[in-house]
Amino acid sequence: MSGNVSMLRPKGGNPATSPELTDELRTAVDARAAAARELLASAVAEFGGDGEVAFANSFGAEDMVLTELILRLGLPIEIFSLDTGRLPAETYDLMARVEKHYDTRLKVYFPDAAAVETYVRNEGINAFYESVDLRKRCCQIRKVEPLRRALAGKKAWITGLRASQSTTRTGLPSSEYDKDNGLQKLNPLAEWSESEIWAFIRINEVPYNALHDQFYPSIGCAPCTRAIAVGENVRAGRWWWEDPTLKECGLHVKG
Ligand code: SF4
Repeated sequence: MSGNVSMLRPKGGNPATSPELTDELRTAVDARAAAARELLASAVAEFGGDGEVAFANSFGAEDMVLTELILRLGLPIEIFSLDTGRLPAETYDLMARVEKHYDTRLKVYFPDAAAVETYVRNEGINAFYESVDLRKRCCQIRKVEPLRRALAGKKAWITGLRASQSTTRTGLPSSEYDKDNGLQKLNPLAEWSESEIWAFIRINEVPYNALHDQFYPSIGCAPCTRAIAVGENVRAGRWWWEDPTLKECGLHVKG
């Protein structure tokens, strides 16, 4: 399935990833970062500093902000990632750069190999394009089940969700109970704007996915992500062939 959009994009690159760093924006980012640090530290104080709090890092711009905040603060928050087996090459490049930049080794969870084999043999290698049900089953095997394993025994998990990312995230609180996973879910960036995210990345020279400069604001698996046109919603490039009100992978179901 083609992921191309016909609308024009500026030739000079994606302006969203390089906002003008005005004094006003710097001040706003400082305040946002201070509030996020406070929320992260209070999560450790409330839920424990011995592996009880985890951060699911999918290497999007927001998650790179949280990676920088958590690792620079030295907070005892476990950082883990899910490798679905269908990620873009640029995401693996970033993962390798993150290991070098922060002198760390990533903790990566993979899908159950037998479940992937059965799905592909029965439904086809790219079955997710054929129906919402088949797409959700693929996400269930490659993302949701590994996430459940990663979160087993945790009391709270940190996400990089922002309220303005999509219609499915409107009204997102900074803290909420995640009944599907049975633990508290903290969204320290819930109120951040896209330009605040990018200002933080530029000011702190945080590594980021090269696809963001090619008009991919939200990056998931390669076959389910396309670039967007200027003016489109930042989540428009995810499962673009589906109804926008249904576009979540099961990791972040509103309940
Ligand atoms: S995003 Fe696409 S490839 Fe990735 S797990 Fe979901 S359906 Fe499968």
